[in-house]
Amino acid sequence: MSDIRDSSLAPSGEKKIAWACRNMPLLNNLVKEFSVTKPFKGLKVTLSVHMEAKTAYLCRVLQAGGAEMHVTGCNPLSTQDDVAAALAAGNSHTGGSDAGIDVYAYHAATPEEYERHLTAALETGPNIIIDDGGDLVNLLHTKLTHLLPNILGGCEETTTGVMRLNSMAREGSLKFPMITVNNARCKYLFDNRYGTGQSVWDGINRTTNLIVAGKNVVIAGYGWCGKGISMRARGFGARVIVTEIDPVKALEAMMDGFDVMPMAQAAKLGDLFITATGCRDIITKEHFDVIKDRAVLCNAGHFNVEVDVQYLDSHAARRTEQKPNIMGYTLENGKTLFVLAEGRLVNLASGDGHPVEIMDMSFAIQALSAKYLADNRGKLAVGVIPVPEEIDTAVALKKLSACGLSIDALSPEQKKYLASWGV
Ligand code: NAD
Ligand code: SAH
Repeated sequence: MSDIRDSSLAPSGEKKIAWACRNMPLLNNLVKEFSVTKPFKGLKVTLSVHMEAKTAYLCRVLQAGGAEMHVTGCNPLSTQDDVAAALAAGNSHTGGSDAGIDVYAYHAATPEEYERHLTAALETGPNIIIDDGGDLVNLLHTKLTHLLPNILGGCEETTTGVMRLNSMAREGSLKFPMITVNNARCKYLFDNRYGTGQSVWDGINRTTNLIVAGKNVVIAGYGWCGKGISMRARGFGARVIVTEIDPVKALEAMMDGFDVMPMAQAAKLGDLFITATGCRDIITKEHFDVIKDRAVLCNAGHFNVEVDVQYLDSHAARRTEQKPNIMGYTLENGKTLFVLAEGRLVNLASGDGHPVEIMDMSFAIQALSAKYLADNRGKLAVGVIPVPEEIDTAVALKKLSACGLSIDALSPEQKKYLASWGV
């Protein structure tokens, strides 16, 4: 039984899914293949990913492959209620062949409701989980350990989730195989860099409607996401400042042409701040005290702890909502700072997330990794498993072909030459 906000919103959600579907050639191929081969026949899949149109289509692809799907979100603010309604309704009434799927998610769920939704999706007893950030894995290893015996394995979508899996594996507490989808080249090189690079700016621009050109934009973290955000900031005409803790990444940012300095220094200069570190306490009281009046702060990394919104909530002299997703905090010193989307992922809480074609690649890897788990049930070692290279290569080749591109192949002589060591 679904737990959604409003089933009457389904027609609007169905249009969003249909638009995504028209622009996802890799998932379109997989839906055709899976409808015949049924790799998930007899298996239950629980998925916790941002509940929006591209994710809904992934759910239908897995369902077409025979999976019994149970679906929830992975962030209380990124669920789109119309999409959740459409997925729950199915599309047979609009001429499609997709049956309704149980969805447990609604926008702006409280922390208790959010956990209740994750729990409901898990209590169906999945064999495979698809996680984004580690919430499902966490519950299965803490409050819902009785469900562990059913689990064949799972897939993790994002950098922070993978870091957590690595920590669990290091201390020997991870209880089943988890495939690190984020670490596939066809994922992080495109999703984290170009996806975040575009969608973060879409989220900021549609929310603030302010000019970027000529402003000082401070970007914390020069990983894959930070690189994408910085590259696009330059395109908008911003002066870009990068903060880092890794000396190599800091040098990379410097040679890419950006200013590099500690946050304590950057705080005094920035007009717009974007965090993308996966770490905590990036912008805190010491920075709030010196940041310019009317600066805008937002986050693109996992969780709402990169900008210390909790401090602002409890210490600001005044808190005034400017418009949806922009909160003004007036400090004791009289300055006002604007925080977007409660310091949660600005591209998803205040936008539609990554572009469709990017999620086509990420979700093709998800679908093929889930199939790998099903095909190899009982054979995989407990622990963290990389995406098989064949999946990465197949996705790249399919994407090239969808773009109408082909590439060269090594001749036997070239292969021999590259494998040799003599002159
Ligand atoms: P990454 O590991 O490639 O990059 C993170 C960077 O932050 C590293 O270079 C690291 O040195 C730096 N860093 C860490 N702590 C720091 C600190 N205290 N100050 C300054 N820099 C610091 O990771 P990534 O793939 O770029 O992902 C970053 C975060 O964004 C993760 O939490 C990830 O889950 C999330 N993510 C979000 C989206 C999205 O749609 N918004 C997409 C992909 C990933
Ligand atoms: N639960 C965490 C998840 C981190 S989100 C949180 O809410 O903080 C980061 C992941 O979101 C990325 O790895 C990316 O693949 C995914 N993502 C980005 N845009 C998306 C979209 N439009 N639909 C679904 N997932 C998306």
